[in-house]
Amino acid sequence: MSDSTTTEMQMPATAPVLPDAGGHFGSYGGMFVPETLMAALTELTEEYERAKVDPAFQLELEQLLHDYVGRPTPLYFAERWTEKLGGAKIFLKREDLLHTGAHKINNALGQILLAKRLGKKRIIAETGAGQHGVATATVAARFGMECVVYMGAVDMERQALNVTRMRLLGAEVRAVTAGQATLKEAVNEAMRDWVTNVRTTHYILGSALGSHPYPMMVRDFHRVIGIEARLQILEREERLPDLLVACVGGGSNSIGLFHPFLKDAGVRMIGVEAGGHGIRTGEHAARFQGGKLGVLQGTKTWLLADDDGQIQLTHSVSAGLDYAAVGPEHAYLKEQGRVEYTYATDDEALDGFQELSHVEGIIPALESSHALAEVKKQAPKMSKDDIIICNLSGRGDKDVEQAAKYIFGESGKKES
Ligand SMILES: *Cc1c(COP(=O)(O)O)cnc(C)c1O
Repeated sequence: MSDSTTTEMQMPATAPVLPDAGGHFGSYGGMFVPETLMAALTELTEEYERAKVDPAFQLELEQLLHDYVGRPTPLYFAERWTEKLGGAKIFLKREDLLHTGAHKINNALGQILLAKRLGKKRIIAETGAGQHGVATATVAARFGMECVVYMGAVDMERQALNVTRMRLLGAEVRAVTAGQATLKEAVNEAMRDWVTNVRTTHYILGSALGSHPYPMMVRDFHRVIGIEARLQILEREERLPDLLVACVGGGSNSIGLFHPFLKDAGVRMIGVEAGGHGIRTGEHAARFQGGKLGVLQGTKTWLLADDDGQIQLTHSVSAGLDYAAVGPEHAYLKEQGRVEYTYATDDEALDGFQELSHVEGIIPALESSHALAEVKKQAPKMSKDDIIICNLSGRGDKDVEQAAKYIFGESGKKES
């Protein structure tokens, strides 16, 4: 337990030391982009630095986070689950209760306010599962901006409901058929669009990934998760937690929770990647297990590639964790030993999904269920006085059909 009780009240304004001016977290991160985008990225970085210290920007962001998005989210004591696991007290940070159903809107909202400051009239985004696309289409509707979302054709089929949601919100969803027709190709198309239309267009990137300033900016817009959780646990338990747990796709919900606690030496942190069918099968998205250092889509970080440097296919039951690279700040935090990284398999995540549904009456997103699987492993080993905070990054409405297939069999009917 840490004895520090300092609180950080300001929203993204508190100045963390990293990254440096070039976007480096130690030897990770940076700006690996075509020359044509450098001016736009520099403009974005400068405007963001100004917005961060502009009280009018902060006030508008805070008010919308409160009235439109639904912040602050509760820090919920999962009493029955705690009793069942028989160890540490488990608290869930309820990002699943936010407008559009996940943490992603914290970032989408922050970025569209920036786009407005920059005088941009058109928004583009990439999406895999469709959650970021929905969050972006939502804020674009709210601010009356044109919105184009790039999505792999395969993902559009798998996530048809989210495609419909985006279209109802007034966005144009463009199918990407290149390569594997999933998230990586959608990012490439969004980058190509941005290069072409950079004067009128802002690219709302969906995770703590890509070229500087995105990993920093996306982190800062999600820090509100950890800032709230820190205040809430201090108020309720009068001390800091012993362990934080969050799932890691690109790494935005996890860095949002972890970052405001990084200086609290007594707080352990575990990031959970997607172990898919298991690390040895090669069918997973656990970059820190069997991955290597490389450059993908603007940033230097850990990724899954073969010996020729070709990006490997990834697999996860949760589309939101199914990406070959991890955010560069996580690569740095792993190297520093400040955050531990592990994985949960599809089966373990589905088990966590069912358990939370049954025991707490909360259907979690399959992504978040990876974090829940790790809580199941850790809580029983800890004492009853210990405290775990797990980030419930999203709700499971989008996943019920897929989960039912796994749990009840193809027919969707329960097997006895
Ligand atoms: C997209 C998503 C994730 C993974 O993205 P991060 O950037 O790692 O947070 C996790 N949970 C939910 C619910 C998501 O929609």
